[in-house]
Amino acid sequence: MKHRTGFLPAIVFSATAIGFALSCGSSSASRTLTEEPGPEVSATPAKVAAASDAVFDGQKLERSDEEWKKLLTPEQFYILREDGTDYPFKSQYHDNKVKGDYYCTACHLKLFNSATKFDSGTGWPSFWQPVNKKNIVEKEDRSLGDVRTEVECARCGSHLGHVFDDGPEPTGLRYCINGTALKFEKAK
Ligand SMILES: [Zn+2]
Repeated sequence: MKHRTGFLPAIVFSATAIGFALSCGSSSASRTLTEEPGPEVSATPAKVAAASDAVFDGQKLERSDEEWKKLLTPEQFYILREDGTDYPFKSQYHDNKVKGDYYCTACHLKLFNSATKFDSGTGWPSFWQPVNKKNIVEKEDRSLGDVRTEVECARCGSHLGHVFDDGPEPTGLRYCINGTALKFEKAK
């Protein structure tokens, strides 16, 4: 009896493990065959349309505020969807000098590269050029009285920051971007 009581749970465990493995295998196989990847709200932002992240392909990403709230933290929602502004010198990226690319936090479109990043002294990550003009949209912004040029992600319309004409050569531009709007990925 002593042996059997030890033996039975082992059999039960093995059967459970096999059953689990089979159900995982069949479910992923049927998903591959029958379902196409769709714009699932439950997907993390980083998984959205990864194939076309380098250059905006014209396929805009439309989501309701409710959908964005499920995907973004309250801070990210405030910056990206309500035109918020990070506190200066608080961003994890304002002093980042590692080589790599900066992607839109909301939709993972590539926006800036470290080769165009410079220290503007403002406390916000600053770049003199986006990776591609197609990946951003520039809009007139009169919200603070004077006219500024707002920068948005071309794909998802999220607010990124502003662009000014007091940047360094070769463009003379300064893209002043909220770190919260960016997701940095180190060059491989
Ligand atoms: Zn975006």
